[in-house]
Parts: sequence; C-alpha cells; structure tokens
Amino acid sequence: MDDVTACPICTMTELLDGGDSHECATCGHEWPKAESGERIVTDANGNQLNHGDDVTLIKDLKIKGKSGKLKTGTKIKGIRIVDGDHEIDCKVEGRPMLVKAEFVKLA
Ligand SMILES: [Zn+2]
Repeated sequence: MDDVTACPICTMTELLDGGDSHECATCGHEWPKAESGERIVTDANGNQLNHGDDVTLIKDLKIKGKSGKLKTGTKIKGIRIVDGDHEIDCKVEGRPMLVKAEFVKLA
C-alpha cells in the first residue's frame, strides 16, 4: 500500500513531524494530522455518522442466526463506526449487532 502523506499546498512528500500536525519541509505549510483509523461513513441520506450518534433503522433487518428481526423505526443509541462491510457496531435491546450504514438514518 502506497500511503504517503503529501503536502496539500505543494504536493511534496518531504514532511516534518510537528506532533499533532504535519509540517511541509518544502513550503513550510502546517496542517493537522488526520485522525488515524477514522472512516467517513454516511447514512441513507448521506449524512455523516460519528461515534456516539443515535440512528433509526429505515429497513426491517433479519437477525443473523435468530428468528425475529429488527423493525423499521427501531432506535439505536450510541453507535460505533467500525471497519468491515457492516459499518455500525451497536447494541439493540441489549444485544450486540453489526448494521450496515445504508439501512439507518440519523435520529
Ligand atoms: Zn508544501
């Protein structure tokens, strides 16, 4: 993986480490480091979802390995954004669940 950070001003990749920020050795531009591991995850309406958001299901979801399902309109509180094709880690009625972001909207 080619994961080199480049200066947004001059696009050079020779950077100095300024603690919480990058500093470009070429033009001197400084900018904050991106928080590592953060993904941009959006709900069905394209709104960005963040850790701790409350969302509402917009689709009935089957519960894997269990009979029953989660109904449209179910509120999910305090979501966590995780890697994987199911972006939302949450608890619904006390049970840990993984839910796709496209099936929810911000509450
Ligand atoms: Zn620069």
